[in-house]
Amino acid sequence: MMKTEGFTDISILYVEDESAIREGLNRFFQRRSGRITLAANGAEGLEFFQSVHPDIVVTDIRMPVMDGLTMAKKIKEISPDTPIIITTGHNDEEFLLKAIDVGVDKYIKKPVDFRALIDVIMNLSAAVILKKEMAQHLVFLREVMDLNPNFLATVDDNDRCTYLNDSFLSFLKCTGLEDFGLRYGSLEKAFVDKDDSFYAGKKISEWAETAVNDRQTTRMVVMKPDTSDDDNESTFMLTVKRVPAKNEWLLSFADVTHLEAEKQLYRILSLQDPLTKVYNRKKFFDEIDKEIDRVRRYGQKLALIMMDADYFKNINDVYGHTVGDKVLIELTEIIRKVIRKTDVLARYGGEEFAVLMPGTDAKGAFEIADRLRMAIAGNVFPVCKEVTCSFGVADFALTDTIDSFVQKADIALYEAKGKGRNNAQMFTGGSFECQP
Ligand code: GH3
Ligand code: MG
Ligand code: MG
Repeated sequence: MMKTEGFTDISILYVEDESAIREGLNRFFQRRSGRITLAANGAEGLEFFQSVHPDIVVTDIRMPVMDGLTMAKKIKEISPDTPIIITTGHNDEEFLLKAIDVGVDKYIKKPVDFRALIDVIMNLSAAVILKKEMAQHLVFLREVMDLNPNFLATVDDNDRCTYLNDSFLSFLKCTGLEDFGLRYGSLEKAFVDKDDSFYAGKKISEWAETAVNDRQTTRMVVMKPDTSDDDNESTFMLTVKRVPAKNEWLLSFADVTHLEAEKQLYRILSLQDPLTKVYNRKKFFDEIDKEIDRVRRYGQKLALIMMDADYFKNINDVYGHTVGDKVLIELTEIIRKVIRKTDVLARYGGEEFAVLMPGTDAKGAFEIADRLRMAIAGNVFPVCKEVTCSFGVADFALTDTIDSFVQKADIALYEAKGKGRNNAQMFTGGSFECQP
């Protein structure tokens, strides 16, 4: 019994005008459960070829209506890779040369030895099956790529996109690769240049090469569809790979817009006092550092107000902690109204605030402190009604450090407390040495 495994995967079109031979082969095939379509002449064969899409064609040469070679020629035009086997009688030799021209793959002498024919079919079908499997793999791969929520693209050496997955196409608002080509030309058009974008002013193939060579394959990219305004920008983490055996790059974009926004939020929160939403102590020291740097570089003035709520413990004790909290919030609202936008307000401690005033000297800061003092003392707070604060003002001397600067304002604040509170004092100690 001959080996017919894999046979059922192959579909055959058999074209033969003599019905006895045709039926004989038909029965032979069907016993082996191969899929076969029968046609009685070339014209019918061609018609079935287009509707059935067989893997292999077996055809007689001499037939009415359309001969086998004419049909074979037309089939090869439609599908050059479909194997064609011709069956030929002794007097058909003249056709054999033509058959080679047409690109016929094999010939079998008539009368057809069915077993020999099956052998030939089996040999040819190995390649057919391989191709079928590859095509299935390709379809599967495309489906996986299209289902991937990450945006995938392949780009050739001329910066031309050779593939975009479905998620990418829908982000770009394109119906397909062709539509993308017409509207964008290159993927670069979807990139939004930022100050520090590695891709600004460069071709994709240029930076992709560098990225892969430097093993720095993961980068941040900002993109938006060409139809949208700035609000629709999204941030992506880009991974670049070289497509094996091709001069192409595979780009994968993971949307990290929300992560970026979250990171930004955490950055803000880490600098903010949760109760009053003004800067916290850490941010205050960052700012003071920057401002001192400016004083040293550009000779700009810099003053500091330290303020502390008077008898705040009493407010908590009498009205409760919640009322105390609300007072702290209201204090920051009053302060904000009095100071300038360029001034830096921070919660320095429990009921202690600091206002850093770039471009202002001690005299100017003192005026603001006194205005703040009056605004607070004159404000009617809910529940506790009256709250006062004390203020210490100092300006930055080139001999100062951050610590000595803050300590100067603290000393002035201590003086204000000593003078009965609801008071503002300017540090007048002249040259000052920082107390450890
Ligand atoms: P002085 O006039 O000398 O500054 O007196 P004081 O009572 O304000 O000073 P003290 O340092 O003795 O007390 C500060 C109080 O502030 C004690 C503390 O419970 C309260 N406090 C600190 N942080 C908060 C807060 O976030 N909310 C509330 N409600 N109270 C706070
Ligand atoms: Mg206090
Ligand atoms: Mg205090």
